[in-house]
Amino acid sequence: MKPFDAVKRFRIEDGKDFRLSSIDPGDTLGLDIDKDDAKEMLAAGIKRLRKLQERLYAEGKWSLLIVLQAMDAAGKDSAIEHVMSGINPQGCDVRSFKAPSPAELRHDFLWRTTRALPERGRIGIFNRSYYEEVLVVRVHKNLLAAQMLPPGLVHDEIWQERFEDIRTFENHLARSGTVVLKFFLHVSKEEQKKRFLDRIEDPDKHWKFNAGDVAEREHWDDYMNAYEDMIRHTATETTPWHVVPADSKWFSRLVIATAIVEKLEAIDPKFPEMDAAAIRAMQDARETLTAGKKSSKT
Ligand code: ATP
Ligand code: MG
Repeated sequence: MKPFDAVKRFRIEDGKDFRLSSIDPGDTLGLDIDKDDAKEMLAAGIKRLRKLQERLYAEGKWSLLIVLQAMDAAGKDSAIEHVMSGINPQGCDVRSFKAPSPAELRHDFLWRTTRALPERGRIGIFNRSYYEEVLVVRVHKNLLAAQMLPPGLVHDEIWQERFEDIRTFENHLARSGTVVLKFFLHVSKEEQKKRFLDRIEDPDKHWKFNAGDVAEREHWDDYMNAYEDMIRHTATETTPWHVVPADSKWFSRLVIATAIVEKLEAIDPKFPEMDAAAIRAMQDARETLTAGKKSSKT
């Protein structure tokens, strides 16, 4: 199994008929991390990523926005850690979006994320994003009430309107040179329970445990419905969703790293070409430097 085939399997370019049940959170496409080839694939992906990022940065034209959405304990943080291990931190920004502050609530729902978009040449990672506006806010309607919207603008169609706003926004980004890569880390309810219990049992993981996450599990079905509807309305050819099986952390990292590599390869950023004057200046500099070296020895 080539890793590129894996990405294609989980990429949704036309959400219209998408069903979450079509992707099994436990799927690893028959790959096994204990086999050397899976490990090699992971390591090779990260190595390739490092080289591509250097070219993206040097060219300074495109930017890459990686959006990560998931239920708690699906492995967003460790996926970020893993992908980051492959790239130069100077060309990358990670932003986490939690419950909005009062100041953020005084703006439109795309404001805070827009301010955090990556500059040309850089990779931006959104740990949660504007998609929370059609997920947690849809599941907990009281959050919508707290957004201080004029009453006439809050109606049943608001989710459809937000999907439309997001599609338009992402099209705008694509037309401006920001490539958006979206990942939903699809973990099963059973695996989430296992990971929460693990956090309780292991003192080194206590800091990760949050009783609120257990309460949020009560809304599991509502979240799954919201995710499915979100993907149906916002997975397009230009900005597809990747629905990544996340019960095996190594597998989700492999799919994410491979999808990023594949996208950067398609962008194919180039080192800037030197003009004749710049090449001449470099040759002069070499002569100066080597002459200096000789004279310092003598
Ligand atoms: P971790 O638990 O690994 O630290 P996290 O992303 O779950 O990472 P938390 O501080 O636990 O971080 O949770 C952030 C919370 O903020 C989530 O429950 C998320 O749904 C919520 N949130 C994010 N964006 C919004 C939003 N626009 N409106 C309301 N709540 C939001
Ligand atoms: Mg959390």
